[in-house]
Amino acid sequence: MKIVLENLTKIYPNMTKGQPDVHAVDGFNFEIPDGELVGLLGPSGCGKSTTLNLISGLETPTSGKIYFGEDDVTDLPPENRGVGLVFQNYALYPHMTVRENIMFPLGNLKGDKKLSKEVMAEKALEAAKLVQIDSLMDRKPNQMSGGQQQRVAIARALVKMPRVLLLDEPLSNLDARLRLQTREEIRRIQRVTGITTVFVTHDQEEAMSICDRIVVMKDGVVQQIDSPQNVYDYPENLFVAKFLGTPAINVFNGSVKDEKLYIGKEAVLDVKGVEDQDVYVGIRPEGFTLDKNGAFKAKLSRVEVLGRDTSVISFHDACESNPVRSIIPSEDKVDESGEYVRFSLKPFKVHLFSKKDEKRLLFK
Ligand code: ADP
Ligand code: MG
Repeated sequence: MKIVLENLTKIYPNMTKGQPDVHAVDGFNFEIPDGELVGLLGPSGCGKSTTLNLISGLETPTSGKIYFGEDDVTDLPPENRGVGLVFQNYALYPHMTVRENIMFPLGNLKGDKKLSKEVMAEKALEAAKLVQIDSLMDRKPNQMSGGQQQRVAIARALVKMPRVLLLDEPLSNLDARLRLQTREEIRRIQRVTGITTVFVTHDQEEAMSICDRIVVMKDGVVQQIDSPQNVYDYPENLFVAKFLGTPAINVFNGSVKDEKLYIGKEAVLDVKGVEDQDVYVGIRPEGFTLDKNGAFKAKLSRVEVLGRDTSVISFHDACESNPVRSIIPSEDKVDESGEYVRFSLKPFKVHLFSKKDEKRLLFK
């Protein structure tokens, strides 16, 4: 089931006099393709949950439309939309067993949709098998780990075979190891069921690792929609470049003159097609090559051995995000006796952004 968001906007009126209204979601246009796992990514308060709640029907938009397939669901109450919801706090009923928790949404079915106890138990077992907790059906939530509880919550969301699965920061309450495991699990379940899924997270690595497509948001406004690799490789603006990647992209104040990029006094790269101007320069940590004749020169601070590769920490006067972090292969040995370290730059890993609107400037 594809989901279409058409100019979707949610404005919360100001609570305090003199304060502006909150544009939680502002003119969101997107067609989520059928069967995809799409990530809504952005910092806290950027409008991810509001977007999800608009899709589920828990919130009504100020303006704009939502379609599931060809159906306009904008005015449909949540229970008639066929969505499965999973939240950060699993919100299981503590006095019910796993089986009863998963069956619960089926008990609400009325009229000719009403199911017998046996059929409900059968469906609950199917959903439990999908998330691999079918051996725990008689346990209570407090007898399970956080990861298992979240699986129960996912099974409960799946038991009615929703048209759309909506997950709001489902991994945030889990410890690091379970978070990794459970995110793989979500990917697997989504693949097996083929249910169109929207996954909200503030964690870029989480979004990158499991989503088919990522929507990056800031202040209620969509910044970029693309595959994880493209969002990383071709950020449309400085915000997106800074939000994705660990360690984060290094940002410098630079300038372009005669199609050459200057950081400080040194011309560090040819940038054909860019007009003379001051720019922000983003350089990914893996964009540096150790080179004793390299034009980029920074004050060496220390070298951290990471095993597979090496992290070089240095300082540069033009850097906005000091220290400069460079990741180089472990075979490349840094002369640690020197005061400075020199690099050449990989053009594909260097991004220029306009100082006017922070949009990316293309160069050859
Ligand atoms: P996120 O999920 O990305 O952290 P939210 O969608 O929860 O962000 O919130 C987006 C913005 O809308 C925030 O500025 C938040 O304070 C505001 N907001 C959310 N819900 C309400 C509400 N019920 N009333 C007023 N403002 C709200
Ligand atoms: Mg939220």
